[in-house]
Amino acid sequence: MNVLRELPKIDRLLLNERFTGLNHSFLTPIIKKKVEELRGLVLEKKIAKIDTNSLIEEIYKEYEELLSPSLIPLINATGVIIHTNLGRSAISQVLFENIKKLLSGYTNLEYDEKKGCRGERYIHIQKQLKTLLGVEDALVVNNNASAVFLILNTFAYAKESVVSRGELVEIGGSFRVPDVMARSGTKLVEVGTTNKTKLNDYKNAINEESAMLMKVHKSNFSIEGFNEEVEMSELSKLACEHGLIDYYDLGSGYYGNLPYNLSKNEPSLQEILKHNPSLVSFSGDKLLGGVQAGIIVGKKELIKKLKQNQLLRMLRVDKITLALLEETIRAYIKDELHLIPTHFLLNRSMDELTKVAKRLQKKIANSSIIESKTYVGGGTLPNRSIPTIALKIKGNAKILEENFRKNGVIGRIENDSFLLDLRALLPEFENDLIKYSKKVLG
Ligand SMILES: *Cc1c(COP(=O)(O)O)cnc(C)c1O
Repeated sequence: MNVLRELPKIDRLLLNERFTGLNHSFLTPIIKKKVEELRGLVLEKKIAKIDTNSLIEEIYKEYEELLSPSLIPLINATGVIIHTNLGRSAISQVLFENIKKLLSGYTNLEYDEKKGCRGERYIHIQKQLKTLLGVEDALVVNNNASAVFLILNTFAYAKESVVSRGELVEIGGSFRVPDVMARSGTKLVEVGTTNKTKLNDYKNAINEESAMLMKVHKSNFSIEGFNEEVEMSELSKLACEHGLIDYYDLGSGYYGNLPYNLSKNEPSLQEILKHNPSLVSFSGDKLLGGVQAGIIVGKKELIKKLKQNQLLRMLRVDKITLALLEETIRAYIKDELHLIPTHFLLNRSMDELTKVAKRLQKKIANSSIIESKTYVGGGTLPNRSIPTIALKIKGNAKILEENFRKNGVIGRIENDSFLLDLRALLPEFENDLIKYSKKVLG
């Protein structure tokens, strides 16, 4: 057991000159952990000699790693625009610039500067949303999952909510409609079948316990063939006849038009809101292309009740979200859609992408230009591919994928080839892509 005696003492290690200038209270637990690990290895007779220098280097490395930022930039060369793992919708630098000064100081977040008294947090974004969507009122919460939860909890707690069996979906990231409904305190009443639900199915389920008729967008899943679902407008009418609330969890939700024929069978927000549903909620950072948020729009008296629910305090959004969302909505109102990255990328023509590809191909070794297909992503528009252009890199696809990934470029493999898909590449990252490609490919 002589080796154990060679284990360096913690306070001696702390004084090592390699650690000069480092924060001791942050360093000490790392040293303790590393020395303990070493003691374990000695006791298990896995090592016979203590190498203090490499111990010091290991400790130093861990300290550096812990201090380096955890969130790092990545280049999205997967082709998927709303990539959930890569942070869903990107936020434009121009919009960020617009609010930088605002957010680094104090604001009227909850202050009425005209009256000199407390103001309302939700007033800010509300005006813009009402203008854009022509709704009676609007409310923004942390994300769409919170919106669903808040709405069900407010209006259907201990009462029944009727949903089609074909819409009891799992969105990913463990958002399962039936589970969220149960948690909110409502009683789920399933109607219809997996592939077909008719208006009569909802009608037959209504009784004195009913509070809500809910429609859920299928999002990342689609039913082909023999199927039928009830339009939101019909559901709204039925709910109105029985004095119930109709609510559409729209999931994504987009404003205006989608290119590449994507609008087919996928009504826009304007089209859905035309029929005056009681409540609709959707995500701020899916097809809308803003920031993480849940946007609730609909009848004024219902939104007033949502604001009275204590839960809203837990689900409320910060000024950063409000400011970024307001900028996004303003870009829609001013028709400056190029300032919304998701919109910009989705609407890029094949000609433009080809131009980008030609520029990059000259600078990236062993690459050739190919046409391919990709998806919008973010649990929207499944089975609806859009055209794209990619650089195909010669070589072992698996090794290339790993090497690019370790240099911050996430590409994809198709037919055993490694591709840098250009559909989701933001123009301001083109030079970085060249730089990292040179690093990987030499
Ligand atoms: C994405 C989605 C949600 C969850 O929205 P988040 O913004 O991720 O919280 C809820 N419902 C549907 C139908 C969705 O598509």
